Amino acid sequence: MRLSQFYLPTLKETPGEAQIASHRFMLRSGMIRQQAAGIYAWLPLGLRVLRKIEAIVREEQERAGAVELLMPTIQPASLWEESGRFDAYGPEMLRIKDRSGRDMLYGPTNEEMITEIVRASTKSYKQLPQLLYHIQWKFRDELRPRFGVMRGREFLMKDTYSFDASPEDARKSYLKMFAAYLRTFRRMGLETVPVKADPGPIGGDLTHEFVVLAENGESDVFLDRRLLGKGVPGADTDFSGDLEPMFKDWTSHYAATDEMHDEAAWAEVEEAEKLSLRGIEVGHIFYFGTKYSEPLRAKVQTAEGEEVAMEMGSYGIGVSRLLGALIEAHHDEHGPKWPVSVAPFHVGIVNLRPGDEGTDKLTAEVEAELTAAGVEVLTDDTKDRAGEKFARMDLCGLPHVLTIGPKGVAAGEIEWKRRDTGEKSALPQAEAAKTIT
Ligand code: ATP
Ligand code: MG
Ligand code: MG
Ligand code: MG
Repeated sequence: MRLSQFYLPTLKETPGEAQIASHRFMLRSGMIRQQAAGIYAWLPLGLRVLRKIEAIVREEQERAGAVELLMPTIQPASLWEESGRFDAYGPEMLRIKDRSGRDMLYGPTNEEMITEIVRASTKSYKQLPQLLYHIQWKFRDELRPRFGVMRGREFLMKDTYSFDASPEDARKSYLKMFAAYLRTFRRMGLETVPVKADPGPIGGDLTHEFVVLAENGESDVFLDRRLLGKGVPGADTDFSGDLEPMFKDWTSHYAATDEMHDEAAWAEVEEAEKLSLRGIEVGHIFYFGTKYSEPLRAKVQTAEGEEVAMEMGSYGIGVSRLLGALIEAHHDEHGPKWPVSVAPFHVGIVNLRPGDEGTDKLTAEVEAELTAAGVEVLTDDTKDRAGEKFARMDLCGLPHVLTIGPKGVAAGEIEWKRRDTGEKSALPQAEAAKTIT
């Protein structure tokens, strides 16, 4: 991609409303533009990262055996009247009337709708388990939308729903998602910790939030340091096999949100291992049994011929929030440092003298070689000052920057800078593409 043909409206000034690094950099690097409080347009650079995150989430859902569908953003209120949540949900729900005066809503979540879909065709335990997911925009009229995409009103969520015939099977579904989440976040270059979350009136211990530790997180978490730096389940994980040992390994150290914090258990943790930090909730998994299947009469026949409400769980990932969390975890004063797996482009090429025969030729060659190897390249072919170009590349956070200027062309060299470490080195022209692929 040539910058002259791309749409990258970067800002020099820091917008006043941006209080934290991720919000500031997303606005300044032209990734998003606010349209109303907590509602953003996704500009080309931001959309590329959003799509990469989505792709990783999708791959790991599929690996764990979940099947994708797509439910609408607008839902009829009638479904929510069946579950009793139409009134209970409160002012976070955006309620709308259609032209006939029917009550509708912009979905804040989809438990009711997925239950309606599954109950229509599932009559026997033999049709279970089912793990269904979608990646769809949600709307929650947050009291205090802030920090950009971290707490938006309209935001992109991946939500999976599990349907099982027994609590034992539902636990297996829960563990699949637990393992899938560990893999998903790690593949994005994020360290997350699963912490015990509040099950509310449902009770039990099958609910965890996955949090990214960050100063600007909105949650307080208490955890045992030994949970950090642990290996996550491998790509060869057998999701239909026994995941209990993995689960036990990850849940045997203390980790809880402030709602679930237990002073007595905390006192047992060795002082040197105690961490009390701020975190960003990027995922949340929850086994809630028959909370929706009971009122919505989503039932199946068991092997014994008994009719039982399906056992359900739901599993959310804040896809758009992850962009903010990723920047909070990886940035310096100049901009984000995107991990390769989610970077908007892998390599930036700065042509210091567009119009010069030598630099243009070398730029085109390196670009072609990288592109042929499947590397995504953004080439700055503008006539802006060199300093401006370098600052823009830092602000875009591309993992590698190659600089091509007349001196280098003469010396047969290209300057290579790694965004994560800031390390610079001179590469022989013929090796530039090979070295960074
Ligand atoms: P929070 O505690 O931050 O308000 P939540 O517990 O209300 O989040 P869930 O209902 O668990 O959110 O939704 C699943 C995931 O969706 C969350 O873990 C989070 O990553 C994401 N999410 C929730 N609300 C927002 C929001 N307003 N903006 C962006 N992402 C959100
Ligand atoms: Mg909330
Ligand atoms: Mg929460
Ligand atoms: Mg939650």
